[in-house]
Amino acid sequence: MVFRSHMDAALAQAKAAAARGEVPVGAVIAGPDGVVAQAGNRTRELNDPTAHAEILAIRAASAALGQERLTGYDLYVTLEPCPMCATAISHARIARLYYGAADPKSGGVAQGPRIFSHDQCHHVPEIYDGIGGSAAADLLRDFFAARR
Ligand SMILES: [Zn+2]
Repeated sequence: MVFRSHMDAALAQAKAAAARGEVPVGAVIAGPDGVVAQAGNRTRELNDPTAHAEILAIRAASAALGQERLTGYDLYVTLEPCPMCATAISHARIARLYYGAADPKSGGVAQGPRIFSHDQCHHVPEIYDGIGGSAAADLLRDFFAARR
């Protein structure tokens, strides 16, 4: 089977989030048959501090598949997941996590709480970082620069 990255679709979701005035982060969930869900941040639109791209994508994928776990599915996200999303990724039993830019400020995977490194974390995905990271970082930098 040929590996096909879905990071371009995640970046498109991040760009769409920026156009809505949301912090530009996008996520895609894909399985053996392709993409099942994609989302961008909607915290402002939904007045919901938990409406991060990863959470919305996990909810949409679970609803579409009619199951509470996404065993065997992969999640692509443009930015290192925060601790909340990393925990949700573990609960969802995501098989592989691909993320773009590192997030020194709010990341919870490679820095900060390092959610997946704790004994209390019952499922750890395979993790691949730096996928399309510079494009994702550029998007975030431009977004915040425009707001200053
Ligand atoms: Zn998050």
